[in-house]
Amino acid sequence: MNYIVIDLEWNQCPKGKEAEDIHLPFEIIEIGAVKLNSCRKTVAEFHSVIKPQVYHWIHNKTREIIHLDYSHLKEGTLFPDAARQFLQWCGEDYQFCSWGNQDLMELQRNLKYYHLESLLPGPMEYYDVQKLFSLNFEDGKSRKSLEYAIDFLELPKTEYFHQALADARYAAAILKQIEEDCILRNFSIDVYQNPKSKKEEIHIFYDSYEKFISREFDSKEDAIADREVSSTHCPLCHKPAKKKIRWFSVNARRYFSVSVCSEHGHIKGKVRMKKTDEGKFYVEKTLSLIDEKDAKRILEKKELLCAKRRLHRKSIYIDGD
Ligand SMILES: [Zn+2]
Repeated sequence: MNYIVIDLEWNQCPKGKEAEDIHLPFEIIEIGAVKLNSCRKTVAEFHSVIKPQVYHWIHNKTREIIHLDYSHLKEGTLFPDAARQFLQWCGEDYQFCSWGNQDLMELQRNLKYYHLESLLPGPMEYYDVQKLFSLNFEDGKSRKSLEYAIDFLELPKTEYFHQALADARYAAAILKQIEEDCILRNFSIDVYQNPKSKKEEIHIFYDSYEKFISREFDSKEDAIADREVSSTHCPLCHKPAKKKIRWFSVNARRYFSVSVCSEHGHIKGKVRMKKTDEGKFYVEKTLSLIDEKDAKRILEKKELLCAKRRLHRKSIYIDGD
C-alpha cells in the first residue's frame, strides 16, 4: 500500500461570497502530491497547475498566499484532465494523506462539479497528518500549522509554504516522523459522500472512543429522533449505557449527552449535525469515556443553557405583553 500525500491550492470568487457559484465555492488551481511506499520512502511526485473555468481572476486574499498569478494559471491543464491524470498516477493500492480535513472534501466537490464524482467513490478513509502530528507529539486535540510542525520537528525549510507540491513534501516529511502504529490506528474518514442508507452507516472503533456516521434525513428533528443516532453505549465494552443526561442542544448543530457504563464509568455523547449540499442532514456521533469531573461540567452547561432559555422565553413574554 502506498501513501499519497496530497495538497491542493484553491481560489475563491474574486467578487466576494455573494457572487460565488454555490456549487463550487473553492476552485482548485493546483494539485501537488507525493507518493510514499509502505516503508514511507518517497517514490514519486505529482504536480499540476489548473486552468480556472469558474473564477477568472485570483481573489486578492488568495494571491497574497499562493505563489501563482493568473497568467500562469491560464497555461494550466483543465481540471477534468488534471484530475484524471492525478488519479491514474495514484495507482491501485493507496491511502490518501493530507494536512487537515479540507483537501479531500474540496477535491470531491470539484469532481462533482464536473460530474466526475464516480472517479473517487466515498466515504473515504484517509490519514489526517495534522491530527496525527498532534496525537504523536502533542495533546491529540490541538491543530497546528504546517510550518509550526516543520519547526517543531526541526526539519529543513527549503521552499515557500502554500505551494501545492512544497506543502505536500512538507506534510510527507512530517508523516515520515510519526510512529507507524500511531498512523495505522488513527485513520480518519471523509464523508463528503455521506452514507445514504441504513446499510451504509459507519461505525468506527478507536482505542478510547468510537464514531458513528448516520444515513441522511430530511430534517434535524428526524435525525436526532432516530434510534441508532440517539442510542449510547460504552466505547470499551460496547454494552448499552444508561443515560444520565439526555441529549440536549448547545446550538443549532451540536448536541451532548452523558451516559454511564456500570463497569467503565461516564460516557460523553457528542452529535454534530451536518448538512449536505442537497440540504439533507446526517449525524456524526462520537462516544468517549470521561471522568466524573467532565460529566459534572456537562451537567452545569446544560443547567446554564436551560436557565438562559427560560429567561429568554420570559423576556419574549414580557416584551409581547
Ligand atoms: Zn463498558
